[in-house]
Amino acid sequence: MTKRKPLIAGNWKMYKTGPQAAETANRLRSLVSEFVDVDVMVAPPFTALGIVAEILKGSVICVGGQDLFWEVEGAYTGEISAPMLKAAGCTYVIIGHSERRQYFGETNASVNRKIRAALNGGLFPVVCVGESEAERESNQTFSVVQQQLEEGLEGLAFDEVQRASIAYEPVWAIGTGKTATTDQAQEVHKFIREWIDKAYGNSVANAIRILYGGSVKPENISDLMAMADIDGALVGGASLDADSFAALVGFQVDSVTDKA
Ligand code: PEP
Repeated sequence: MTKRKPLIAGNWKMYKTGPQAAETANRLRSLVSEFVDVDVMVAPPFTALGIVAEILKGSVICVGGQDLFWEVEGAYTGEISAPMLKAAGCTYVIIGHSERRQYFGETNASVNRKIRAALNGGLFPVVCVGESEAERESNQTFSVVQQQLEEGLEGLAFDEVQRASIAYEPVWAIGTGKTATTDQAQEVHKFIREWIDKAYGNSVANAIRILYGGSVKPENISDLMAMADIDGALVGGASLDADSFAALVGFQVDSVTDKA
């Protein structure tokens, strides 16, 4: 079995002012080697995108948005578009995070429109799916995730799906300190890959990266990454500290060097 190149992504959520984000980005740049065999991305708040992208320019660390709106421009107060993210230095954008679904009315239909906008704007979408605790307890994990995939990816061409990553984030494990066991995570990752195989064929299923998210820390990443269908991590809390995030990037041990 060939594994895909891992992607380790940090979601800074609504943390860090511009100066605080700059400090973290500078430290991260000094910690993460250019020889690391992992794709790395951090998603700062919108107000810090420009400064973080400037600091990380020329490094192996890419920058992503935490969300976008599907229109290119217009009278949409408070929103931000794919071309704006791209111009600010983003390569990736997180779409459909459970916090967006829970607090800001994100639906599978809006996720679909946002993925299209991201792809049209030349960004790689990181599409979040995952079940709540109640859904897991009532054995709905697979049906919930399948519906999120079916409706979120609806109408996308094969090559478009291939440019996306899926982040499986069980809602009950986000920011709670509860991590899914490696078997629980692998079971859903395998389900996602098999669903993609049926919907888009073997080559897309083999190429697409499926990240795990939910209380990933330096102590548990190696076990998660050892699972056949886990191709990386989307990390919240543990990405806020540069040293801890660098340790996550360096889960293959000697890929992190301290150049500071
Ligand atoms: C996340 O925000 O996507 C996340 C997984 O958060 P945490 O790592 O803090 O659980």
